[in-house]
Amino acid sequence: MVVDTKLYDLLEVSPNASINDIKKQYKKLARQFHPDKAGAEFEEKFKEISVAYEVLSDPEKREMYDRYGEKGLSEGGFGGGMEDILSHIFGHGGGHGGFFGGMGGFGSFGMGGSSRRSQKRKGEDTVHPLKVTLEDLYNGKLVNLKLKKKIICTSCKGTGGKGNAVQRCSSCNGNGIKVSFQQLAPGMVQQIQKVCSDCNGEGEVIDAKNRCKKCLGKKVCDETKILEVQVDKGMKDSQKITFHNEGDQQPGIESGDVIIVLKQVEHPRFKRKGNDLYLKLTIGLTEALCGFVIPIQHLDNRELLVTSSAGKVIEPDSTRVLLNEGMPHYRSPFDKGHMFVSFDIIFPQNNYLELEKLKLLESILPPRAKVTDIDMTREDVQEVMLSSYDASMDNGSSNQREAYHQDDDGDDDGHGPHGQGMSCAQQ
Ligand SMILES: [Zn+2]
Ligand SMILES: [Zn+2]
Repeated sequence: MVVDTKLYDLLEVSPNASINDIKKQYKKLARQFHPDKAGAEFEEKFKEISVAYEVLSDPEKREMYDRYGEKGLSEGGFGGGMEDILSHIFGHGGGHGGFFGGMGGFGSFGMGGSSRRSQKRKGEDTVHPLKVTLEDLYNGKLVNLKLKKKIICTSCKGTGGKGNAVQRCSSCNGNGIKVSFQQLAPGMVQQIQKVCSDCNGEGEVIDAKNRCKKCLGKKVCDETKILEVQVDKGMKDSQKITFHNEGDQQPGIESGDVIIVLKQVEHPRFKRKGNDLYLKLTIGLTEALCGFVIPIQHLDNRELLVTSSAGKVIEPDSTRVLLNEGMPHYRSPFDKGHMFVSFDIIFPQNNYLELEKLKLLESILPPRAKVTDIDMTREDVQEVMLSSYDASMDNGSSNQREAYHQDDDGDDDGHGPHGQGMSCAQQ
């Protein structure tokens, strides 16, 4: 008595069909709906057929299905527990969306033979960092990258051996695991699963005599490949360049991608933000006041003569712009960002001028700000001298505990950083 005919309907056979009829029908349908032939939209259909065949070709499973229907398979333990084992064996999450609940893992190995195990699965992507300089990103560069990858054995074309050297393991029906049932009570069935010892969970066995000599039955070989990586003008740090399906090859699996990730090494002079470049120039007071011409080497080796004409004043920490001297825009390399130049100004050292010349200098510098109304006869007017400054004296920049210590020292022996300055002021 068959309680459910869904699987039989899928294979378009009667519930009384013999195992041979089921096999024949399956072969016919599998050929018809194979996604390579029928197209990707038939992938689900193909999976369903495979699952139906998987169950109906196995006398034990067929009996469970006939007696208890879908429940016999899902509640019999074909669900969660099996997915775990599948992910172990095949190294991926077993759930490929079987067409009834709890049977998730079935679809992924329905065909038995490993070469047709998964139509949709894609291998892992391979990620390679590629160091580039800012010059490379400015000018563009072609980089030949040596890459090791696995390719399908050319000798056996990924079959592992001559002719029919590779056979579906008859012991486990190609599943890699053996499933048996134990009836605990009427309607209650416990499922027992074991990795197949005949094929070590591979689902297939290779006849030693006919095993491929090149790949030793592994189906894939190592190959060194040169990948031509085109770094385009204007590309950025962390930008990815993808080579589709250039990853490791594996029979029955779509190769993953090779993804090159650009890593820009820091430039000694330029910083980059978006398409703009930042440069710091250190100039003297004379240049800041009287103009200058400073040569700088750009990223394409041009010598730029950075010019500030006489009469223009550059203030300390100020910024100027060199228009359109930034990075080329990616995919529009004739458009460029700007280059922002910030200035550090070195002032002359103490006493660099004799008093005499200092007066001369003062006579040509802008006039002093007037200080008026100082009544030197007042008792509360006092002169205080500026001392040289050291960042370690600055409590504002240190934490509270340090500040407390400094105060302490100052009180105790007067040698703390504050001690001297304060006692001077108090005199
Ligand atoms: Zn081979
Ligand atoms: Zn086996």
